[in-house]
Parts: sequence; structure tokens; C-alpha cells
Amino acid sequence: MAEFDFDAVIVGAGAVGLACGYGLAKRGLTVAVLEQEAAIGQGVSSRNSEVIHGGLYYPTGSLKARLCVQGRRALYAFLDQHQVAFDRCGKLVVATAPDEIARLDAIFEQATTNGVEGIARLTKAEALALEPELACEAALISPNSGVFDSHGYMLALQGEIEAAGGAVVVATPFEAATPLEGGGFSVRAGGAEPATLTCRYLVTAPGLSAQQVAGEIEGFPKDGIPVGHYGKGRYFRLAGKAPFSHLIYPPPIHGALGTHYRRDLGGQGVFGPDLIFVDELDYSVDPAIRGAFAAYIRRFWPGLPEDQLTPDYAGIRPKLHGPDEPQGDFRIDDADAHGLAGLVALFGIESPGLTSSLAIGEEVAGRLGLP
Ligand SMILES: Cc1cc2nc3c(=O)[nH]c(=O)nc-3n(C[C@H](O)[C@H](O)[C@H](O)COP(=O)(O)OP(=O)(O)OC[C@H]3O[C@@H](n4cnc5c(N)ncnc54)[C@H](O)[C@@H]3O)c2cc1C
Repeated sequence: MAEFDFDAVIVGAGAVGLACGYGLAKRGLTVAVLEQEAAIGQGVSSRNSEVIHGGLYYPTGSLKARLCVQGRRALYAFLDQHQVAFDRCGKLVVATAPDEIARLDAIFEQATTNGVEGIARLTKAEALALEPELACEAALISPNSGVFDSHGYMLALQGEIEAAGGAVVVATPFEAATPLEGGGFSVRAGGAEPATLTCRYLVTAPGLSAQQVAGEIEGFPKDGIPVGHYGKGRYFRLAGKAPFSHLIYPPPIHGALGTHYRRDLGGQGVFGPDLIFVDELDYSVDPAIRGAFAAYIRRFWPGLPEDQLTPDYAGIRPKLHGPDEPQGDFRIDDADAHGLAGLVALFGIESPGLTSSLAIGEEVAGRLGLP
């Protein structure tokens, strides 16, 4: 049997790459996670809502539907075990107008099909009894939705990989890979000390660079690389007291779950993200959109005071659909898709990627044929 430097090399130390590394390390494999930035978790995993999604909306049979529910269950257990902060605060999906009630019914049906536990319909009076400042016609409650410390989670994953004898190597960009005769890969890494490593398995989880990284793998079919789009989402922070303890979500918008409310672990109210398609990785938040945000928020919180919204941060979703196309699924491409044994390439890991990350790690191990 050939000797390899590592059993597995993972490209990208975001939540998903680290969860894949953990999934392989706990099966006894030696793992090296390569990260181009100077620290872990500086990509999409650092610019999101940190919501643990219930898994309500995703179409039957999709990877998102299955991996979100499995990932959520695994994530709460992992956070508990590793003493990473979370708040299982629950979420209300609210109909802000009578014609949205039918949309709640459809979400309820989908959530039930997806195996989401505890989902229930609430009348307007029941919803207002839980959240007196809310305006709505009816609601759904998802008691197992929550928020968590995503950076603490990634540090715990890194700790597990290292405790199993693996390495998380920062400031080390993946540059190229070549399949080896007889199986495995030779991987070229750059940085201050460029190196070439060999591995039996290669997993690419580079978030917004997924297309570029796949293009640097010799033998990866060019027509097997899906077109990527950037879906930017912007957030505003509330200066005053947080008005709700539950997450509050209006029905989804086209292409995303839409601007919602959350109380972060520091106790502050945050609203966002919206969705605009952009060509560049520009993380600015234009203060001029404050009025549009306020109008949207007042549909479910008429009491929003004037001048209490401050532009906060933005994140960019690695999307596989453009503005007018239907929202797609995660892509977890194994040898059946690209023809390279031992390689799993991830594309389009947008929301609910954080929630799903541990389940994605398990799925990747399965696609590599590991029990
Ligand atoms: C606005 C927004 C809100 C969201 N909200 C939620 C939410 O509430 N709940 C939820 O479950 N999901 C949410 N998501 C989705 C979630 O954030 C992502 O699915 C998840 O963080 C993706 O993790 P990742 O590890 O795939 O990507 P990343 O975190 O981007 O990690 C990829 C890593 O690869 C590195 N990399 C890239 N190229 C190379 C290379 N050549 N060599 C080495 N390293 C490389 C990058 O530097 C990066 O660190 C949201 C996303 C956005 C944008």
C-alpha cells in the first residue's frame, strides 16, 4: 500500500472544512487542513447570522433538507459537549399580512415532511402572548432553532482535529493537486514555506473559492464545475433594547430566508440579511438602505424607534444560482460526478451550511467509502 504524508487533506478551515476534518479524524485518519488566511474561520463562516436552523423550508429529497436536520441535532450535542455557547431560543415564522398565512401552511407541511421536531401553528393571540411587541396575523413556532458562537465551534473542531494527531495549517494556500498513479493525490501548497504533500483523500471546502480550487485539480472536468454567483447579505444592529427573545422570520424571499431578527449571544438585536447579487467581494453596508430595512422590519415590529438602526456587517453567500434562477441545493461532488476517486469537492455551501456542517462531514466520509 502506498505511503502518504496524510490520509486526508482538506482545503479550507471554515466551519465546513473543519467539520469534514473532524469527521475524518474521528475515524482514525490523519488529517491536514490547509487554510490560506492567517487564522481559521475568516471566510463565509465569520459573516453570517449564527443561526442554528430547524430545517423547515428545504425541498423534500434535497441535501439541504436532510443535512440541516441531521446537522442541527449533531451540532447541539457537539456544542453541549464542548461547552461552546448557544441559545436554543426558538423561532417564530410570522405572516405579516393575511395573504401570507397560506405560505405558513406550506412551510408547516414542508417542515413536517423534513422531520423537524416540535413545529406548531400559533394564532395571532398565541404569538403575541409569547412576543408582545410583535405584529402578525399568525405564526409557526420552531422550538429547536437557536443561535450559537460559531467561532467557538470552529476552535473546538480545530482542537478535536489536533487532539487526533492532525494539523490545521494557516497562511498556507492550496495551489494545485495532481492525482497519483495507484490512487491518492499530490497537493501543492504555497505560503512562506511552499510544500508538496501526498494524501489518499482530498476534500475541497473553500467556500467562495470552490470553482477556482476545483479548476486547479488536474483531471477535474471543466464542465463539471458549476457557475458560481455572489449573493451579498447586509445587516443592521439595533442600538436600543432587544425587543424579542425568539428569532423572528417573515416568510422567505426568493433565493434566501430573508431579513430576520435575532438577539445575539451578547443580548443585542440584529436584523438581516437581505440579498443582492454582486460581482466583487465588497463587504460594505450602505447606510442609505436604512429606510428600506426599517420599513421591512416595521411589518413585524411596528414599534421600531426612529434612528436606532446602525449599519453593521455584510456576508457573501457562495451561490449556484443567479437572481432569476431557482435556488439550488448544496453540491457534494464525489467520483461519480467528476471521475477522480478519493476526491470530494463541495460547491454552493450557502445557508444552512453552518447548521449542516457536522452532517456534511459525515456525508463526505460516506462518499469516500469510509464506514
Ligand atoms: C449572510 C449569510 C448568512 C448566513 N447565515 C447562516 C445561518 O444563520 N445559519 C447557517 O447555518 N448558515 C448560514 N450561512 C451559511 C454559512 O455561513 C456557510 O454555509 C458556511 O459558513 C460555509 O462554510 P465553509 O467552511 O464552506 O466556507 P468558509 O467559511 O468561507 O471557509 C472556506 C475557507 O477556505 C479558505 N480557502 C479558500 N481558498 C483556499 C485555498 N486556495 N487554499 C486554502 N484555503 C482556502 C478560505 O479562506 C476560508 O477560510 C450564512 C451565509 C451568509 C453569507
